[in-house]
Amino acid sequence: MYSMDRILVTGGAGFLGSHLCDRLIERGNEVLCLDNFYTGQRRNIHHLLAVPTFELVRHDVTMPIYLEIDRIYNLACPASPVHYQTDPVQTTKTSVHGAINMLGLAKRVKARILQASTSEVYGDPAVHPQPESYWGNVNPIGIRSCYDEGKRCAETLFFDYHRQHKLEIKVMRIFNTYGPRMHPKDGRVVSNFIVQALLGQDITVYGDGLQTRSFCYVDDLIDGMMRLMDSPAEFVGPVNIGNPGEFTMLELAETVLSLTGSSSRIRFEPLPQDDPKQRRPDNSLAKSALGWEPKVALADGLKETIAYFRTVVNG
Ligand code: NAD
Ligand code: UDP
Ligand code: UDP
Repeated sequence: MYSMDRILVTGGAGFLGSHLCDRLIERGNEVLCLDNFYTGQRRNIHHLLAVPTFELVRHDVTMPIYLEIDRIYNLACPASPVHYQTDPVQTTKTSVHGAINMLGLAKRVKARILQASTSEVYGDPAVHPQPESYWGNVNPIGIRSCYDEGKRCAETLFFDYHRQHKLEIKVMRIFNTYGPRMHPKDGRVVSNFIVQALLGQDITVYGDGLQTRSFCYVDDLIDGMMRLMDSPAEFVGPVNIGNPGEFTMLELAETVLSLTGSSSRIRFEPLPQDDPKQRRPDNSLAKSALGWEPKVALADGLKETIAYFRTVVNG
């Protein structure tokens, strides 16, 4: 049911991109991994460098590039607030210019193209859980806007290239995802809590810790992403992919403490500006259109992730 052709993965040295490269190589695809190593790590793809069907290209998606490929997964973009707020102008450029270049490339070579969009397009959502039909509640001028609005604009570009140039597009709204190969200094909550617990440092809970997120294990997420890419041409999305299990940050902190057996203490720190209060995907479309549902429970996924961070933190 899927193409065995050449597949371009932008952001392929990152957390999600490297898992996607693994799965595509496993099923026999030829993979071109494009990354500028802004947040990506060589160790994520080191094991693939000797594989004859894998090729690494160091390139910034904000610059044009001419390649011959059949499919594009566009993942290039820093995903953690700490990273995307370090150079916010570059973040918007990566989302917007990156999308334009990848869409231009897809148009020239007639490639199907998937966009890694985000639940952040819903902003601080007034509708809960979030269905794809919800237009969101996004601050256009805040410190998260470079990411949220960049991703929203990229979605607009995808749908306009689809309508205007008949491109085959797929738009995926990814909810908080965790797993092995997250950057230890990524700044996202799961990696922060695990690294802090393993090092015996205080667990930094922002605000009162009662804000919620829904955490999807990386294997489930990549399964959903590949199903979406391989779905019939007329299904373009946007489609939510995430785990509907909803937890407060305090619950997450306590789960990490008990799974690591750490004696770290919880320390409360100020809540960052514009931090969404709640987030949980409505998965009904993913279920009906892709036959996709997450399978990995939070405790099981956290165990795998903790095992990975033990090797990174001690190694
Ligand atoms: P990540 O930071 O680990 O990976 C992003 C990759 O993109 C890195 O390898 C980075 O070096 C590369 N990159 C950044 N800017 C680039 C540029 N200008 N040119 C080329 N490469 C560039 O993050 P991730 O968690 O793997 O996220 C991958 C994608 O999924 C992102 O687009 C992100 O917005 C989206 N997403 C992720 C999550 C999540 O929870 N992980 C949630 C929603 C959306
Ligand atoms: N582009 C690219 N690789 C290609 C084709 C296009 O990087 O193989 C870039 C090109 O630089 C352009 C962008 O994609 O800026 C959008 O291309 P499109 O054809 O849509 O627009 P145009 O070139 O007409 O501005
Ligand atoms: N958070 C926290 N401690 C940390 C890092 C994050 O309490 O060390 C909180 C953060 O304020 C947010 C939630 O955890 O409410 C998820 O943050 P993350 O940066 O992982 O993702 P996003 O806010 O983009 O969903």
